[in-house]
Amino acid sequence: MNTTTAHTPHEVGTAEIQEVISRQRAFFRTGTTLPAAFRRKSLKALKKALEENEQAFYDAIYADFKKPAVEMYAHEMGIVFGEIDLMLKNLDEWMQPKRVNASLLNFPSTDYIYSEPYGVNLIIAPWNYPMQLTFSPLVGAIGTGNTAVIKPSELTPHTSALTQKIVNEIFDPGHVQVIQGGVSTSTALLAEKWDHIFFTGSVPVGRIVMQAAAKHLTPVTLELGGKSPCIVDEKVDLDLAAKRIVWGKFINAGQTCVAPDYVLAHAKIKDELIEKMGKWVQTFYGENIQESPDYPRIVNERHFDRVSKYLADGVVAVGGKTDKEDRYIEPTILDNVSWDDGVMKDEIFGPILPILTFIDIDEAIHAINDRPKPLALYFFGNRSRIQDRVLRETSSGGACINEVVAHLANHNLPFGGVGNSGIGTYHGKYSFQAFSHQKSVSKKGTWLDVPLRYPPYKGKLGWIKKAFKVG
Ligand code: NAD
Repeated sequence: MNTTTAHTPHEVGTAEIQEVISRQRAFFRTGTTLPAAFRRKSLKALKKALEENEQAFYDAIYADFKKPAVEMYAHEMGIVFGEIDLMLKNLDEWMQPKRVNASLLNFPSTDYIYSEPYGVNLIIAPWNYPMQLTFSPLVGAIGTGNTAVIKPSELTPHTSALTQKIVNEIFDPGHVQVIQGGVSTSTALLAEKWDHIFFTGSVPVGRIVMQAAAKHLTPVTLELGGKSPCIVDEKVDLDLAAKRIVWGKFINAGQTCVAPDYVLAHAKIKDELIEKMGKWVQTFYGENIQESPDYPRIVNERHFDRVSKYLADGVVAVGGKTDKEDRYIEPTILDNVSWDDGVMKDEIFGPILPILTFIDIDEAIHAINDRPKPLALYFFGNRSRIQDRVLRETSSGGACINEVVAHLANHNLPFGGVGNSGIGTYHGKYSFQAFSHQKSVSKKGTWLDVPLRYPPYKGKLGWIKKAFKVG
């Protein structure tokens, strides 16, 4: 194994941060980041460096919390490569000012939307998909012609150290720079004025970010979390539902922002669903799950203690074993849970899946609507009328029918939350929009100057009303 040496990062103070920002502001003002050729060169350099460090990333993330290489590629690196390729392919088109129909009121004019990079961006990343969630936003930032400061998570020191090493090697610090550190560094970064903050993390810290941004009226993209429900109707391919839910819940040991947080099962099929999910847990991870090379660990002791407390909030139907030394929590299904239990209060963010029941779909819809809007919502069931009702009558950042998590992997879909689960979207062309201001531009002809809008107004009202009608 060849892991980058990970030290607990020292916290970075205000003076150093201000220097970094001044350098990036000066670099941005030179206009260097704007031409397509520069953006292209930067994206290609990034892709090459990531390719060269593929094994180093497997090792670093494994050292951090035993994430298997297949999950690392499928859920992190592969997604970043897709983002880079899509950006390279579409860059010229997305950069072009978009001509729109002009208004007759402005005649003669030609009107455009210009994508204007924000400037100096702060990207704050979480630990759970540490490679994807630093580099996917970075692709958006540099593809759009910005500079960026990245603050990776202190909870994945090996991956964060590798990220810093790679970025330092390929980018001018005026363009992209990594600042490592924990809450104190993050707080110092947030105290400064940025042109845009892109934050991925928890709802409570999202609030802190938005408050800090409000002081400078800085635009934010907030990619947050929450409790994503998974409804399983009675008319359903139950075995396939069980298989897909078990996969989506227990990849990354349940530490996934769009993992099904809890299952709302039709009372008629609940017992059979639990039995089938238990079977799939065994099929995926074997008899001795702690020995499985495919099952990661909880990221640190604080999170281990937080998640294992939930085991007491219901009857363990599947799993339930823990090993604190190893930060291991077995994939666990909890039965006999009620809405008032602790496990139903906050996002679980670990391998525990509580099951609640409903009889009428209205009950399930109301229960979801009584709670903060989730990042994702999943419905398993064959009846299209009920599928449509669930999609139309609930609000969530994204949704899947007869599937979990998969909407995240399509670069043509905007990814983000709504309400409590986030503000703004990214991926593909939505990343381009997330990192740029859409500037409206009206280019006016000088060969004609319609006198209608100028005083004196006498006799003009009727003409003006007509012009508005046409427009
Ligand atoms: P977190 O909010 O604790 O930390 C995220 C980042 O914020 C880290 O870099 C951390 O150093 C910094 N931070 C932590 N506390 C801070 C504070 N008080 N002030 C300023 N900065 C602070 O989140 P996490 O534990 O790293 O990640 C898990 C959370 O992220 C879950 O809620 C999950 O749902 C969410 N998440 C969302 C997405 C998404 O795309 N929507 C993706 C992954 C994770």
